[in-house]
Amino acid sequence: MGCVFCRIIAGELPSRKVYEDEGFVAFHDIRPKAPVHVLVVPKEHVEKLSDYPDTEEGERKLGALFRTANRVAQLLGLQGYRVQVNVGEKGGQEVFHVHVHVMGGWG
Ligand code: AMP
Ligand code: ZN
Repeated sequence: MGCVFCRIIAGELPSRKVYEDEGFVAFHDIRPKAPVHVLVVPKEHVEKLSDYPDTEEGERKLGALFRTANRVAQLLGLQGYRVQVNVGEKGGQEVFHVHVHVMGGWG
């Protein structure tokens, strides 16, 4: 299993975890681009955001992902934050397991 985030989810690689539930895990980015930079990751391996099907099931999964991003930001006490998803190689994606960047902590 070559996926770095699957290995973190399986506990085979260390991470600085800030949140976990049945469907998601969130941990600090190893190369933070903000004072607080956390990645929100579904436990289900899906390569990229655009792989979620254009169906109600896809909508449910996308909704759950962003709902969890909001929840994590609130847990971290962020008053405001930036949410980013890089989609595909040409969108700057480096790790091909869907994740939402939650960045904040300025000022
Ligand atoms: P992306 O360009 O959206 O695919 O971003 C992938 C992010 O994952 C980058 O910001 C990396 O710093 C981060 N990253 C890569 N490997 C790890 C890891 N083992 N633990 C935490 N963050 C990681
Ligand atoms: Zn994976």
